Amino acid sequence: MSDHKVYYNYIGGEWVPARSGKTYENRNPADTRDVIGIFPDSGAEDIADAVAAAKEAYNAWRLVPAPKRGELLYRASQILQERKEQYANDMTREMGKVLAETRGDVQEAIDMGYFMAGEGRRLYGVTTPSELPNKFQMSVRQPLGVCGLITPWNFPMAIPSWKIFPALICGNTVVIKPAEDTPLSTYNFVQALVDAGLPKGVVNIVSGHGPTAGEPLVQHPDVKVISFTGSTEVGRHVSTLCAQQGKHVSLEMGGKNPMIIMDDADLDLVLAGAVWGAFGTTGQRCTATSRIIAHRAIVDELTSRIQAEAKTIQVGNGLVDGMQMGPSINQGQLSVVEKYVKIGREEGAELVLGGERLTDGDLGHGFFHQPTIFGNVKRNMRIAQEEIFGPVVSIIPVDSLEEAIDVANDVPYGLSSSIYTRNVNNAFIAMRDLYTGIVYVNAPTIGAEIHLPFGGTKGTGNGKREGGTQVLDTYSEWKSLYVDY
Ligand code: GLU
Repeated sequence: MSDHKVYYNYIGGEWVPARSGKTYENRNPADTRDVIGIFPDSGAEDIADAVAAAKEAYNAWRLVPAPKRGELLYRASQILQERKEQYANDMTREMGKVLAETRGDVQEAIDMGYFMAGEGRRLYGVTTPSELPNKFQMSVRQPLGVCGLITPWNFPMAIPSWKIFPALICGNTVVIKPAEDTPLSTYNFVQALVDAGLPKGVVNIVSGHGPTAGEPLVQHPDVKVISFTGSTEVGRHVSTLCAQQGKHVSLEMGGKNPMIIMDDADLDLVLAGAVWGAFGTTGQRCTATSRIIAHRAIVDELTSRIQAEAKTIQVGNGLVDGMQMGPSINQGQLSVVEKYVKIGREEGAELVLGGERLTDGDLGHGFFHQPTIFGNVKRNMRIAQEEIFGPVVSIIPVDSLEEAIDVANDVPYGLSSSIYTRNVNNAFIAMRDLYTGIVYVNAPTIGAEIHLPFGGTKGTGNGKREGGTQVLDTYSEWKSLYVDY
């Protein structure tokens, strides 16, 4: 009999096992001997229960004044603040990224709660003059009903918060299916909401796998909005299913984010940004810097300095002081990294650093890989075109800003991009011509805050945005009201 902690689904304000009784074990990717807990392996019948609970709760929740809904979000953020250290620890154990980063992840959720709490006191509509006498006209946001949220493992609390908080402030109720690798952080997040006074059924968690729990959520006719963050392949499938029912959908998918380094850049600044952008979160961010597009005049100096800097990165268990980079999330992801290292070698790119799995001592119990740099990469190589989602970066030499921007835009994704330059004209040209949802100047491609719209062009998204007040458009619809008097 196992003594591991057993978690249940949260449906209609009750903690309940999956109807089938099926469970799965969630293990620490830094040390697979460490079992985080036993979680429900749910199916369509659990989704149906959760959607029914959310639908029932919607009747009352949509009528709670938005400022009051905001006060609940505010209290939840205060509770998250009190529990930040504990929740960051739990997250490092289940996801692997180092403590400094998981603290940041919890902090993003806190910030989103405060931001959306404020929106409860705004949720602005518009009044305009009518063409006719004695007529008043205005527009208001109305909620849609039950929202189905499918979240990834790389930001296990921040990304659920980007979806749950705006859904709630608009007056919707929620069923969330967290990534199977990181359910605990979603449980912790929802526990803070429950302790802040969340009414029964307003948020429901169903844990499990994509095909068996995610897909029935997407297909349930009473779910009016789907918000999905994950791979482009799965996102396109979700989008097709939603289209069949005319369902609203917000997609946030892959990236192949470029960092342009001009010959006038401050290389000290570049160094810090490039290493953080490429290897922060073990490269497992949609916004990770995966291509460094460097002016030929400085590319050799830059390559050797990045190599020297990346060599010093401490790789290990993120709970241990001094560690700077954790493991890949699971064996599947590690195999993808190994596959692309092989492809890069075969394509003739120059392996400047790394390229191997790390197995010394305790590292052998986790999914660790060396920070890896390819130099002299050609723009059309697969390592320069396809998302790897691991600690691998490609350096691509170019001769001009024009060529750099052309290379930067020449991928199927468009989430984030950046340029390092001291020339203000270069900076503005890049801000205008980089076809991505986010552009940084003299900063890496990662580190987006929730106050501005977050999302991307091309294969990264479907035109929707998370974050900013723009996210409210995913979770509300406009109603126009005309009054004759
Ligand atoms: N907040 C993260 C960043 O900009 C991105 C989240 C993600 O990778 O999905 O670094």
